[in-house]
Amino acid sequence: MENNTFKSGFAAIIGAPNVGKSTLLNNMLGEKLAIVSPKPQTTRNRILGVYHGNNFQIAFIDTPGIHSTRTMLHKSMVASAVETVSEVDILVFVIDITYPFDEEAESILKQQEKRKIPAVLVINKIDRTTPEKILPVIKHFSESFPFKAIVPVSALTGNGVDRLINELEKCLSPGPEYFPGDMTTDQPDEFLAAEIIREKIYLNTKREIPYSSAVTITSMKENTQKKLLSIHAKIHVETDSQKGIIIGKRGGMIKKIGEAARIELEKIYGTHVFLELQAKVDKNWSRDTKALKKLGY
Ligand code: GDP
Ligand code: MG
Repeated sequence: MENNTFKSGFAAIIGAPNVGKSTLLNNMLGEKLAIVSPKPQTTRNRILGVYHGNNFQIAFIDTPGIHSTRTMLHKSMVASAVETVSEVDILVFVIDITYPFDEEAESILKQQEKRKIPAVLVINKIDRTTPEKILPVIKHFSESFPFKAIVPVSALTGNGVDRLINELEKCLSPGPEYFPGDMTTDQPDEFLAAEIIREKIYLNTKREIPYSSAVTITSMKENTQKKLLSIHAKIHVETDSQKGIIIGKRGGMIKKIGEAARIELEKIYGTHVFLELQAKVDKNWSRDTKALKKLGY
């Protein structure tokens, strides 16, 4: 029975620039990258993607500024990123084996120790080294911080990534299925497009609507000759009345959302965009207050 309990959680991927966080995320998610975010975009803690496992789900959260330039701004950025991190269930700390020791990284780790959030250390880029070089790094970190697991990986080749997912799963607690499992894509562009549409929903509708809606991209095709990017997207809502609000009087609202999103997408992609939006009631998409709370809403 116990094994059938659904588990879920939010994970923050943290680490210095260039250690391979984005590469790792792409590798973990692969085709499993979900293009859905249950909340308005903020730079603080946006959902990068959701890993749909067998009976579990891990939502990865971005933590901008946890490491950046060493300017005056830096301290407060780190502070806010560390705040974000306190709202998550798992910390995924990524280091680069070719540059494994970083004072700043370790001071962030020390701060985390008090929070008692399960942390997993990822030693990335092992394709660029030999096992003898990995061992002392494992030793150093296992002695300096109570990691739940230390996993050497190559985000580039995928070596060790399965084991990492496995270790992350062990850190999860029973929890709801925050994200519908069928919303997947391997297109980061689609993720971005969906986020922009979501942002326009947020800007144009009242409070409950953004929380109750999700955006998925049905298709995204570029015709380079015509310099035209065609995007078809669905806006999922929970009830008929929400669908009515999204569509608006004589389709005015969905047109407004589409127009605003199209203008922004054209700027980003530097091409003409044809954007078709469709509203759809999707009972599986349920708002979960716990999910929102976790995200600070
Ligand atoms: P981020 O700044 O932490 O998100 O790092 P990125 O994912 O953008 O990666 C920074 C650079 O490291 C890129 O050039 C990646 O191709 C490279 N990289 C990431 N993971 C690996 C790895 O496992 N092995 C090797 N050799 N290079 C990697
Ligand atoms: Mg990155």
